[in-house]
Amino acid sequence: MEKCDLSKCAGFLVEDKLSELIDITVGLRPGMPTWPGSGGVELTRTMQLEKGDFSNVSRLGCDVHVGTHVDAPKHFLEDGSTVEELPLEVMVGPCFVAYLPDVVEITGEVLDDLHLPFGTKRLLLRTRNSELWAAGSTEFRSDYAALTAGGAQWVVEQGIDLIGIDYLSVQCFDDSGVTHRILLEAGVVILEGLNLADVQSGDYELICLPLKLVGAEGAPARVVLRRLTGVEEKSARGGML
Ligand SMILES: [Zn+2]
Repeated sequence: MEKCDLSKCAGFLVEDKLSELIDITVGLRPGMPTWPGSGGVELTRTMQLEKGDFSNVSRLGCDVHVGTHVDAPKHFLEDGSTVEELPLEVMVGPCFVAYLPDVVEITGEVLDDLHLPFGTKRLLLRTRNSELWAAGSTEFRSDYAALTAGGAQWVVEQGIDLIGIDYLSVQCFDDSGVTHRILLEAGVVILEGLNLADVQSGDYELICLPLKLVGAEGAPARVVLRRLTGVEEKSARGGML
């Protein structure tokens, strides 16, 4: 029997899989849930074609912690680095998405029970929070799922470089800031406000590109995942990656 040209066949599948991007960014819009005390998101037209202006131009007003965004060390550390200094190589690369549907306080024990793949450097946590984004919730909720200080310590001890969560803070609402400080002092990049409602647990490539806001302690980001299933298939066949 003639051999099937598996290499070409697999290659085609791999490219097909690689092109599958999952947008896990929350849309920025007025009326979206924002942290209490935040001025929210304002998007106003400053020039309008229909009024005879040269073009349509909008002006964006918001704090930098709206929607999907990253926190830089400066957010909680006086001498911390700022968002344009965050290493891009930490925000782009293989990551693991874990699904914790029934947990509110994400402790070290909870994270231990995930039995993460060896060498996980980027970890995104999908919780019940993602359902709030998916449902189009407009009110801020203080009962969101988040990391405890012990959970943050676990992240640092595991050598994880980036931790992502699907609500507006990585720490619980009544946390004094200790969870943020543990992570930021260790140089862990914090990614907040993800919408992981459509993402199954597993391996992905993360692409997170925050706005290059010079001197800011955080920045909104466009964040996508790319499935790695096809890559594993090809890898198993000895293909080049
Ligand atoms: Zn933040």
